[in-house]
Amino acid sequence: MANLQKPKFVYMRGGLRSWDDAVLHIGCEAVTRGLNVFEGIKGYWQPDGHFGIVMLRSHYERLQRSGRLLHIPFDTEYEEYKRVIHELIGTLVEPDRDMWARTTLFVVEGHWGEDTVADLVVTAYHQDKVPPPAISLGVSTWRRSVDVALPARIKTSTNYQVARLARIEGRAHGYQDMVLLNQSGRVAEATGSCILMVRKGVVYTPPATEGALESITLDPIDALAHSMGIPFTRRPIDRTELLVADEIGLCGTLAELTLVHSIEGLSLSRESTILRMLQTRYLEAVRGVAPHPAVDLSLLPPRTPSQFSQLRPSLTS
Ligand code: PMP
Repeated sequence: MANLQKPKFVYMRGGLRSWDDAVLHIGCEAVTRGLNVFEGIKGYWQPDGHFGIVMLRSHYERLQRSGRLLHIPFDTEYEEYKRVIHELIGTLVEPDRDMWARTTLFVVEGHWGEDTVADLVVTAYHQDKVPPPAISLGVSTWRRSVDVALPARIKTSTNYQVARLARIEGRAHGYQDMVLLNQSGRVAEATGSCILMVRKGVVYTPPATEGALESITLDPIDALAHSMGIPFTRRPIDRTELLVADEIGLCGTLAELTLVHSIEGLSLSRESTILRMLQTRYLEAVRGVAPHPAVDLSLLPPRTPSQFSQLRPSLTS
């Protein structure tokens, strides 16, 4: 699991620090109220030796939107955001291993929205280059919050409390991930990804107004489907539609396009013909094997094997 690793370096308080030095004070609102907004970002090795970070500007823009909605100031320019992510990933990256990075704005000073100060923290973890295996999916009794309570549009860790409860519930029933319904009982999303459903050759996904995060991965998947002549539609999805779907998939930065082999214990077609084609095409695009204009890659310069062993990052004290 990506989040169980303890990478050597973290970007925090304006520089690279050791993992053990990356701590927050117990008195700050990031700790006392879970006040933060964040982004999960994926990077892949490219065939020509570059390392490509997927849709970086879209992640920056969503971080800005989340910060704005929670009144967390974020005045870092895109170029600086990109520079620090490149710096940390460039320091930690290993030959032939992909990476997942998390950029978080933690509220380190301020009280109840007054004098709020946030620190941009970046962590990055290694990922093995394997396509995600198919999973079993359940439907949780826990529900996504409404836009006037805890908006799904804000990517903040407090929004994942219900996702955690859903996963605990799912584990007890043998499900690997769970669908969260919205307050109207329709499909919102999974615990850390969006839902794709195929019926009669059309791919459907609920719009963000159904209680889903505004997914970044959905846009390139939509564009790839369009290029492949696969109809792709955003519209509400009933719970029972999932149970009679031809195919189901999960879509997100980390989930990439994960196929689902059963829903609530009911088997789905093992072939997943349409979603498997989309999965293959998406992975080809992010890995630079078959680039697509909708899949934007922010490239780190190529590096020779000896440059890996010579790397000695300078730590900030
Ligand atoms: N919904 C939730 C709850 C998520 O955590 C994620 C992953 N960030 C997604 C959807 C998919 O969003 P994205 O495509 O931007 O990764």
